Amino acid sequence: MIDDFKNIPSKVNLEQFDISSFAKDKIRDLFRTGKVPTAEVMVDEILLRAVKSEATDIHFEPTDAELRIRYGSEGVLKKLVSLPREISENLANVLKTKGALNAFEKKKPQDGRFSLNVGLHQFDIRISTIPVMFGERIALRILEKNARVTSLDELGFTPENLIKVRNLLHRPNGLFIVTGPSGSGKTTTTYAAVNDIQGMEKNIFTVENPVEYKLDFASQVSASSDKSFTYVDALRAILRQNPNIIMLGEIREAETGVVAAEAALTGNLVLSTILSDSAIGAIFRLISIGVPPYWLASTLIGIVYQQLVRKICTSCKEEYQPTKADESSFVSMLAGEAKFYHGKGCEKCDNSGYYGRTAIQEVLVLNDQMRDLIYQHASIMKIKDAARASGFESAFQDGINKVKAGVTTISEFYRALG
Ligand SMILES: [Zn+2]
Repeated sequence: MIDDFKNIPSKVNLEQFDISSFAKDKIRDLFRTGKVPTAEVMVDEILLRAVKSEATDIHFEPTDAELRIRYGSEGVLKKLVSLPREISENLANVLKTKGALNAFEKKKPQDGRFSLNVGLHQFDIRISTIPVMFGERIALRILEKNARVTSLDELGFTPENLIKVRNLLHRPNGLFIVTGPSGSGKTTTTYAAVNDIQGMEKNIFTVENPVEYKLDFASQVSASSDKSFTYVDALRAILRQNPNIIMLGEIREAETGVVAAEAALTGNLVLSTILSDSAIGAIFRLISIGVPPYWLASTLIGIVYQQLVRKICTSCKEEYQPTKADESSFVSMLAGEAKFYHGKGCEKCDNSGYYGRTAIQEVLVLNDQMRDLIYQHASIMKIKDAARASGFESAFQDGINKVKAGVTTISEFYRALG
C-alpha cells in the first residue's frame, strides 16, 4: 500500500453487504429499509479501496444474481464484493454522472473520464460502459497523475536487449514500435524510451489521447476522441514545427501509420505502439491495417514486444519441486538442469507469493535483409529466419531465462506466453 493512504479510513463496511458471505434476505432487508449508505458513498468507498490496494482497474459486472465488483491488480482480477443486484443501476448512475456520460443511455457503450483526489494523490479515471444481459458492465481504468516516468533500466530488459534498445533510440530517424497485448505496459515503455533520450538540444512532441504522464521536456498534444482533432492532424501540425522526436500514442489505422512513417522518413525519430502478439507480428499487423510495406521497409528500425509477468515475492521465495502437469512439462523442456522457485506466501505479498511485475521481452532490430523481405511481402517464416540469423532472441526464450533465474514462476510464464 502507498504509505500516504494508510491513514485514510474506510467509511463503509462493504463486506456486510456481500451477498455471497451473508444471508441474502438479511442484506436485502437492509436495502429495503434504507439502512445502507447512498450509492455515492458506496462508489467513493470502492474507489478509495481500489486506490489503496494499487489496483489498475475496477470492474462492475451485473449478473442475474448479483453485482460483482472486482479489482485488477498486477494483471490479475480479485473479487472485492458481490452486492445485491438491485443496487447495480444506482451505482452505474453515480459512475456515469461522474464520467459526464449520458445516464439515460443504457443500450449503447459509452466512455469518458473523471478526476479523483485521494490524500495528496490525483488520479485520472477512464470509464467505459457496455450493455450486457443484466444491465451495464462498467470498467474503470485508474491512472495516477504526475506518476513518475519509469526508467528504461527498471523495465526488465536483459543487458543485451537494453543495449539494443538504446542503440535504436540514438538513431536520428526511423520508426520505433513497442508492441504487445493490451495491458502489457507498452505506454510505460514508450515513455521510458523518450525519457531516456531527452535533452535540451532536442525538440520533442507527444501526441496522445489523452496525455497519460506529464513530461516537462516535451510539448504534449492531446488529440480528441472524436474526429475533430485526430492523430493525423496533430502529426501534420507538429511536422511544421521542426521536431526531432515524436511519440505517438497508438497506430490504429492506416493513415496514422503512413503519416508516422512519413515523419520518420523526413528526419524524425518516431515512437509508437500497436497491439500485436510478437515483434514480427507487429510488422504484419501494420501491413494488415493498411500501412504499405514499402513505407515500413524504408522507416522501421526496431520493435520491442513485451508482456508483463508477476515477480516472485522476495520475502517468501523458496526453491520447490514442480509437480503440476504444466509445470513438469516446463521442467522436461529444460531437461532437469534448473532449479525452480515460487513464493510460499507471506504478509508482504498478501499470501499471493508475488510482489511487483516485470516484463518478458523481445527486441527486433531491423537490418537491410529484413527490410528487403518486408518490401517483397515475404512470409513471416522468412522474416523469422532472418531475425534469428541476426541474433534475435524471442520472448519465449527470455521468459524461460526469467523462470530459471527465479524472477518469475512457471505458471506466470504460461499465463503470459500461453
Ligand atoms: Zn511473500
